[in-house]
Parts: sequence; structure tokens; C-alpha cells
Amino acid sequence: MKALVLEKYNELVYKDVPEPVLKNDEVLVRVMACGICGSDVHGMDGSTGRRVPPIIMGHEASGIIVRTGQEVIGWNPGDRVTFDSTVYPLNDWFTLSGHYNLSDNREVLGVSPGTYTRNGAFAEFLAIPQHILCKIPDNVTFEQAAMVEAVAVALHSINLSGLIIGDKCVVVGSGMIGIFIIKLLKISGASLIIAIDTNKRRLDEAQRAGADCIFLTDEEGLPLKIASLTNKRGADISFEAAGKSESVNMALTLVRKGGTTVLVGNTSPSVNFPLQQVVTREIKVQGSCAIRGEYETVLELIGSGRITVDDQISAVAPLSDGALWFDNLYNKKGNLNKVILIP
Ligand SMILES: [Zn+2]
Repeated sequence: MKALVLEKYNELVYKDVPEPVLKNDEVLVRVMACGICGSDVHGMDGSTGRRVPPIIMGHEASGIIVRTGQEVIGWNPGDRVTFDSTVYPLNDWFTLSGHYNLSDNREVLGVSPGTYTRNGAFAEFLAIPQHILCKIPDNVTFEQAAMVEAVAVALHSINLSGLIIGDKCVVVGSGMIGIFIIKLLKISGASLIIAIDTNKRRLDEAQRAGADCIFLTDEEGLPLKIASLTNKRGADISFEAAGKSESVNMALTLVRKGGTTVLVGNTSPSVNFPLQQVVTREIKVQGSCAIRGEYETVLELIGSGRITVDDQISAVAPLSDGALWFDNLYNKKGNLNKVILIP
């Protein structure tokens, strides 16, 4: 089969590789669409240490089952499927206690952090354990299904936030995850959504996604402006979707006393932390990692049209051109959002 292989750091090669060998509890999926994730782009040059070559990247994918292993039940050739990006063990304490995204020894598709290598979906075929599969509704396209992971990451952060109807929310960072947080807040009963970013173009996108107010990070008197929009209290919930020291501090500053800050962005290994502010204002700080069962809901939201994802797809291109599109994303050419590759 053909695959896009990261052979060395910064060297993607479209080439023939052996088809995956199917285990008894796996299905073989013909990949129909696979999105390029920011983590793939950042992983490509070795800076994150999570894409040690050689590796076939790609974890935001969808396809059709072409073969099933002997122990597979309830899945058949021809089924249209997408799948969680995390391959989690079933016999793990965290999985059994309902936290599979935190399970020990979990692996991520298309990732090789040094301790394991699990090839991903920038290939014609991929073997997937049956327990991470999710059926795609008939009215959702393969390209839309390849967007589910990003929306599910956003939904997971909202599910952890304790949001109640009427909450006023701040979203710091208007990248793809921030945009989907805004879109989901819009249909979750938040009464006010404030988007903050360093980039005006992304803020305009946040506004189109449903943000009621937008502010550049360096806006003068920002905390006072947020206070005046929130009955002088500050936001009930702030979401941090950039992962940098400044944005984490901003999210913690703009939340009200006793409010919740959800941290989703994780580009920095550590940040400056305003300890006294968090302690004396009793702020709840909640980390949010990946996805925990949100796929089904997201697919239904896309199918019913309550969440739109097409506006975040900048290009759909053949997998054979993958190296070029990675280069465009890496060098930030042309304000691209999601690029989807078709094997
Ligand atoms: Zn991703």
C-alpha cells in the first residue's frame, strides 16, 4: 500500500510500505480521509519528541472497513467508521473507572514518543482495535468525520468545566480547538462568549463561530473590560486553548472568584503559575486531555447541522501531495486551518 512516511525529521516520503497485519480483535480500514493535526506539524521536526522516525503519522481519520479479525463482533466490511485517536487497554484501572483517556500504557495513533511506535492513517489501510471504532451517520461525510477529533477535544473540555445555563465564558486562544469550544458554547447555554487572541484574523473567525465579543491580547484595560461585561465579577469559566504562560495567566486573571479555568492547550511543558491569585480567589483549575467518549455526540451534532465543521477545512488534497501541504502548514503559508489528505 501507499503511505506518507516520516523517514527522518522534516522528510516526508510518499512510498510503498507493507499492509498492516490484522490482529484478531482488529478491523482493517481503508482510509478515506485523514486530517493533518497541529501536533503532526509540530512533531515533524522533532521538537515535541512525539514523532520519532520512521513513523506514519495521522490520527484524525475516517474510512470503510474492508476486513474484520476473528474476534470482531458487530462490525462488518462496508461499515463507514471513524475512531478515537487513543488506543487504550481495556484491562486498566483508569479505563475501568471510566477514564480511558488517562489509562496507563495507552497509545496514540500515528505517534512514536520513543516508548512505542503506532503507525497512523496517512496510508491506504490501517488496522484498528474494534473497541475504539465509531460508526459514521449516513449524513456525515468522510471529510467531516475526520474533523470529529478536534471537535471532541473541545467538547471534552466543556464537559469538564461544569458549565451551567447562563454562564459567561472567556476563551483564550482562537485556534481550531478554541473555535470549536466557541461553537459548542454557543449551543450549550452560555450567555456570553468572549474570545481573546493575539491574531486579528483568528478573532474574526472566532466572531463568525459565535463569540459575542472579541479582544486582542494586548487590548488596553482588558480585565476592566471583561469585568464590565460580567457584572463586575469576571467570567464564570475561562478556557485556555493556547498552552503558553501568558495565555494561562490571562485565563486565570479573567475568571471570577470561585470560578473555573479549564486548561486545554499544552504546547509548553510548564508555565508561570499565579499561585496567590489562584489560592486567594479559590479558582478551580481543571486540565482537559483528549477525549472521553465524546465522538458519538459530536457525530450527531455534525449530522444534525448544529455544529458546522466544513468552514474549518481549508483544503482537501491527495495523500501523494502530503509533503507539500505539511510544508505549507509548517511555514504558515496561506492562513490554513485544517488540511485533509485523501489516500
Ligand atoms: Zn489531533
